[in-house]
Amino acid sequence: MTFIEVAGAKVDTRHYIGGARVASAETFTNTSPVDGSFLGEIARGGQTEIDLAVAAANKAFKGWAALGPVGRGELLMKLAELVEENIETLAQLETMDNGSLLRSHRRGVMPRVAMNIRFFADWAINHLAHEKFETRGHTNNISWDPSGVCALITPWNAPLMLATWKIGPALAAGDTVVLKPAEWTPLSASFFADLTKQAGIPDGVFNVVQGYGREAGAALVAHTDIARISFTGSVPTAKVIAKAAADNLTPLSFELGGKSPLLVFEDADLDLAAELAVEQYDNAGQVCLSGTRILVHEAVADAFAEKFRERAAKIKQGDPRDETTDIGPQIHQVHFDRIKGFVDRAKAEGQTIVMGGEPNDDLGGLFFRPTLIQPSAGAEIVTQEVFGPVLCMQTFATDEQALEMANGTEFGLAAVVVSGIREHAEKITKELVAGTIWVNCFFVRDLRAPFGGSRKSGIGREGGNWSFDFYADVKNTVVSPNGWKE
Ligand code: NAD
Repeated sequence: MTFIEVAGAKVDTRHYIGGARVASAETFTNTSPVDGSFLGEIARGGQTEIDLAVAAANKAFKGWAALGPVGRGELLMKLAELVEENIETLAQLETMDNGSLLRSHRRGVMPRVAMNIRFFADWAINHLAHEKFETRGHTNNISWDPSGVCALITPWNAPLMLATWKIGPALAAGDTVVLKPAEWTPLSASFFADLTKQAGIPDGVFNVVQGYGREAGAALVAHTDIARISFTGSVPTAKVIAKAAADNLTPLSFELGGKSPLLVFEDADLDLAAELAVEQYDNAGQVCLSGTRILVHEAVADAFAEKFRERAAKIKQGDPRDETTDIGPQIHQVHFDRIKGFVDRAKAEGQTIVMGGEPNDDLGGLFFRPTLIQPSAGAEIVTQEVFGPVLCMQTFATDEQALEMANGTEFGLAAVVVSGIREHAEKITKELVAGTIWVNCFFVRDLRAPFGGSRKSGIGREGGNWSFDFYADVKNTVVSPNGWKE
């Protein structure tokens, strides 16, 4: 069986290498977190398939690079259009594969997939330029040259959206790509590969190898013929990948985990604060940027907690295909058990469970109740990334204490600040360690802006020129005013 049918769409279960479908001797099983149903057997790639894909991508590189930003842009714009034409199919597929809300895939996530591709194609054509400048009469010409084959490794929490943050700039920069999607969510990447073919993207420019991280992923990042590694995932995996990259000195970009603070100050609009705090349960808490550590000024802690509970009581957990559902299931039994393990250990340590703290037995399956815990300082639950619907709440008495708590982590991905006084918010944001800070808002994201994490939350930034600085070979050509015949 080389195809599976999900929500009326036919998805190829094989790899996509050099423009053709390639099977593997072995497969792995893909099930849906929505209802536990069997989706299909997926080709399980390893060294052989990675070698084939990297060779195909290398072969296609020169031709793709030679098209230039405008030639590539035409094909990438066509690809973006095809994504838009297939939003419903992609949304249905992704929901069955990863359990996230169908309504958000339809109206937010999949339109952004198209936008990611279009944005970077346009950026390469219209914005990727540096003003020429003179040094003692010599002109510095800065260019972004295609660099080669990019190894892209992506997680399961927003599979195609996160993949196209990488595919978009890599292809626009003139690189070719080998994508290894997460093994829990192989489907959208496979369907997307068909769209690249329909768009006329030459064979070998975009390749997908399915499989486990420790097999296909490890073979890809250790390959000697790749020019870049771009990885989004967890810190432990990043450490393994960094070691493999070190052997070949392959440049890498990491978007990793977080344990971001959401700070509620005494001067905050508490209704807004409660609304923003409840948003941190989105995608069943499987969002790297989530402000999972709510830090509240002690003077407003009770009032905030009451509003939070009132608002959280309205969250509707259920089938992610239902338009009225707010939170779907966790991705996989392994991940569900991991989340439950964190909460069970917090209970055993005597941490205060304010809300939830257990599986939702009314729904069964992979549904874990939205949980709020009031932990003691230094508890595991408030230092480790849970990546589930589990928030912690702690109080502070002064700005200094708030900052010490907010920054007292090995991560630095994001922060949310809720305050009613601009000068106060500015003072706090200056001192916070985070790649992105949202003030009185959450999740507003513009592809022109840098995105990434400080400390162990990442290496490098994506977005606008930052993406091209990574995917391309940045070159400075210094031209003398002397030595010319004319
Ligand atoms: P993960 O690290 O387990 O897996 C991510 C990817 O790496 C998968 O495709 C996996 O197959 C692959 N992989 C695993 N071992 C590998 C190896 N040895 N060599 C090469 N590849 C390997 O992470 P996950 O559980 O899929 O995702 C959740 C994590 O991702 C969380 O920590 C979350 O915060 C983070 N994340 C970060 C961002 C961001 O932009 N900063 C976005 C989404 C998720």
